[in-house]
Parts: sequence; structure tokens; C-alpha cells
Amino acid sequence: MVGVQVDGARHRADLVVACSGRHTRFLDLLAERGFPAPEMSAVRIDLACGTRVVPRQPDDLTRAVAIEVDDPAQSHRMGRMVPAEGNRWIITLGSFHDDAPPIEPAAYEDFARCLPSPLIADVLARTEALTPVLTYRMPTSRRRHVERLDRTPAGFLVLGDAICSLNPLHAQGMSSAALQAQALGRAIARHGLTSPQLARAFYRQAAKVVDAPWRLAAAADFADPCADGPESVGTGLLNRYLDMVLRACRTSIPVARQTLRVQNLLARLASLMTPAMVVRVLLAARRSPAAATNPADREAGSPVG
Ligand SMILES: Cc1cc2nc3c(=O)[nH]c(=O)nc-3n(C[C@H](O)[C@H](O)[C@H](O)COP(=O)(O)OP(=O)(O)OC[C@H]3O[C@@H](n4cnc5c(N)ncnc54)[C@H](O)[C@@H]3O)c2cc1C
Repeated sequence: MVGVQVDGARHRADLVVACSGRHTRFLDLLAERGFPAPEMSAVRIDLACGTRVVPRQPDDLTRAVAIEVDDPAQSHRMGRMVPAEGNRWIITLGSFHDDAPPIEPAAYEDFARCLPSPLIADVLARTEALTPVLTYRMPTSRRRHVERLDRTPAGFLVLGDAICSLNPLHAQGMSSAALQAQALGRAIARHGLTSPQLARAFYRQAAKVVDAPWRLAAAADFADPCADGPESVGTGLLNRYLDMVLRACRTSIPVARQTLRVQNLLARLASLMTPAMVVRVLLAARRSPAAATNPADREAGSPVG
């Protein structure tokens, strides 16, 4: 790889980094030129979202950082409301497995009304939306195992969603891409911009970055029995434990705080599995009013709210 061509103009480059997202075609083009294609893991989620922006009134949930409403044990539907600059809310309603939120405003509000809390529907009911409902679908979360490639072209690599594209509801893709960019910086400092070892060294580091969000997202996605795909080793057990962690978040501030740090890629997944944390999680999950999403745990008598 010697450079790029943009709008007909050629630019030489020592290194081309393709951040062309989930639908990148570069890896397919390389495969057509005789380089191995990376293996891919995918989890079928059939996510459908509808987002609209509404004004935030001065007395709207004044202390709220963000609102998330779902009950995975009962329904595939969820809603999220995040404050944005300029006194606005970004509202996203979504569902998995063929239950897309409608785009017609009244039906959209009805969809919000079906959620376990009326908070989002109430905000929709008392404001004039600033945008129409914008829709997005994602059939699968997927990961390309670039770290397993035994041959890569010199002077070229991919980064970001091109490596791992996660269920956006877990909100980890940008953090993952940023951490990959940091890992690339370190790999360049160590091996040099033009080293033939650079891509493989970077891909090994990128795999470490991606591993935690991929496992977390896949674990959460597999909590839904309709999710389909090859589970990584330990995912079933991890799912059951994370299900408990999420229930424990309702009754334990230390568990909730550490879970948020892990979800936002500020702490390692292993930090939720230290002996002290496991004890906290077990005790707090028993007190939690939230229902277990895992049928085995429900049958075993975990509290159902
Ligand atoms: C609905 C939705 C909500 C999300 N919410 C969050 C969130 O809250 N938090 C979070 O962390 N992440 C979120 N994500 C994920 C996040 O957007 C992605 O993980 C992140 O943008 C990935 O960055 P990227 O640069 O790898 O790819 P992208 O942001 O997809 O950028 C790729 C760019 O490359 C361009 N491109 C593609 N092919 C070519 C080509 N041949 N030539 C030139 N340009 C090309 C594309 O047009 C695009 O602009 C969300 C994603 C979606 C879809």
C-alpha cells in the first residue's frame, strides 16, 4: 500500500489507516488480491431504533444524567433519554428481533408508553419534537479477528468499527475506537511507521482493547434467548454473572459505580470478578427488586420484582 486516492487525486503515504466503519470493503478488496480475510464472529440481534430530539423543559427531571428504561425479562423493548447541549433530550426507542419502533409520532409515543416507566412517554407528550423519528437497524454485532491474520499488507491497517462493531445500545464503540487509536500510537512508537511488523503488533493490541467490550456486549445480547451466534467460551456463565451484576446495580452503589466504569471502558471486566466484588454482587442481587433475565436463575428462586 503506497497511499490513497481521493476525488481522483493521489496522495502518497507511509501508512494508510482505514477507519471506514462497519461496512468497510478494504478487507474484502485485500482478500481479492490474495491476502487472507479475517475470520468473523457475529451475534444476531436484529436491533431497530428510532431516535428523535425534543426540547428539554427547565423542570424536566432536573437531576437526571440519563434515563434508561427497559425490563429484559419481560420485553425486547427499551427506551433511552440522554441530555444534549442547547437544552435538548435525545430520545431513542428500540427493540430487538423484529419489533421496530414506529416513525409516526403518536405511535412512537404509544411505543414509549409500553415501557415499564412512563418517564419518556410523558416527556414526549408535553413537547413538540425538533426532529422526525430517524431510524437505524443493525442485524448483527460483529467482530473481525484481524489479530489472527498471519499475513497483512505493509503500510495498511484497519481500526475502529472495521474491526469490531458492537450493538450501539451498549454505547462502547467510540471508546473502543479511541483506545484502539491509543494502542496504534504505542505500536508506532515501538515499531516505527513503516515497519512490516506494525500491523500485526497493532492488531494484537487492538484485540485486547476489543475483547472486553465484545464479551460484555455479547454477554448482554445473549441474555436474550432470541440472540443467535457462536457464544465465546464462558459466555453462558459470564451472562449469568453479569445478569446478577446488573440486578445488583439496583441496590449497591459500589457495584453500580464499578459496573459503569467497566461499561465505559475505564476499568477492566476482571474488576467485577474480584472475590470482594463477587460477594457484594451476590448479596446485592438477592436484595434487588429487578427480575433475573436468565431462566435458570429465575427457576432457582432469584427474586422477581
Ligand atoms: C445509532 C448508533 C448509536 C451509537 N451510539 C453510540 C454511543 O452512544 N456511544 C458510543 O461509544 N458509540 C456509539 N455508537 C457506535 C459508534 O458510532 C461507532 O463505534 C464509531 O463511530 C466507530 O467509528 P469508526 O471511525 O470506526 O467508524 P464510523 O464512525 O462508522 O466512520 C466511518 C466513516 O468512513 C466513511 N467511509 C466508509 N467507506 C469509505 C470510503 N471507501 N472512502 C471514504 N470514506 C468512507 C463512512 O462514510 C463514515 O463516515 C453508535 C452507533 C450507532 C449506529
